[in-house]
Amino acid sequence: MLPILLKLKLATTAAAGLAAATPVPMPAIAVAMTIVERAASPVEVKLFDENLQVNATVAIRRDGTMDDATAAEVKHLFRCRTTGREHAIARRTLAMLADIAEKYEPRAIEFVSVYRVQHGESATSPHRDARAIDFRIRGVQLPKLRDYLWRTYTEVGIGWYPAEQFIHMDSRPALHDTAWTFLTGENHYHPYWAEVARRPVSETPPPRHRSGV
Ligand SMILES: [Zn+2]
Repeated sequence: MLPILLKLKLATTAAAGLAAATPVPMPAIAVAMTIVERAASPVEVKLFDENLQVNATVAIRRDGTMDDATAAEVKHLFRCRTTGREHAIARRTLAMLADIAEKYEPRAIEFVSVYRVQHGESATSPHRDARAIDFRIRGVQLPKLRDYLWRTYTEVGIGWYPAEQFIHMDSRPALHDTAWTFLTGENHYHPYWAEVARRPVSETPPPRHRSGV
């Protein structure tokens, strides 16, 4: 058995050797670890069901994944309100949801409608495909939400419903981005706000990125 002092000396020497052999300084490693931990830790997503007027909180990771128990809870919360059927919501859509939940923390996301599979729902509706969420956040102006989502993400559909007071957000992998304003009973595509929101504010605009992975 080694004397304690010698053990300490060996440990110190080993640590020094490790530090010397590592090309990245320790503080940078610590920073990287923090980033990795942050990416892996879920976001607390506060929800408010507008139809049933109840609150729920679920933990969703920034890439839109979650544990099995949460996945079951999310499926149930976002079920079709006409048929009662449940469906897993698209991961990229949940990644965007986690993003805005974090951005506007601690406000709740008031959801109006998510999965819709009832008779009469269009065959091409992203709601039927469990990729869309209609929602608002109390205290946040809809145009701010709308512009943030449109500016930040690609392969999305973003609809603004000023009369109904909600934003439609869907992920549509490999499809063109689509923006619209719903007014007087119909969609108006290529709205001016969409052009303005993506206009570069400087010579080097921030890059857009896809939701999730
Ligand atoms: Zn919608």
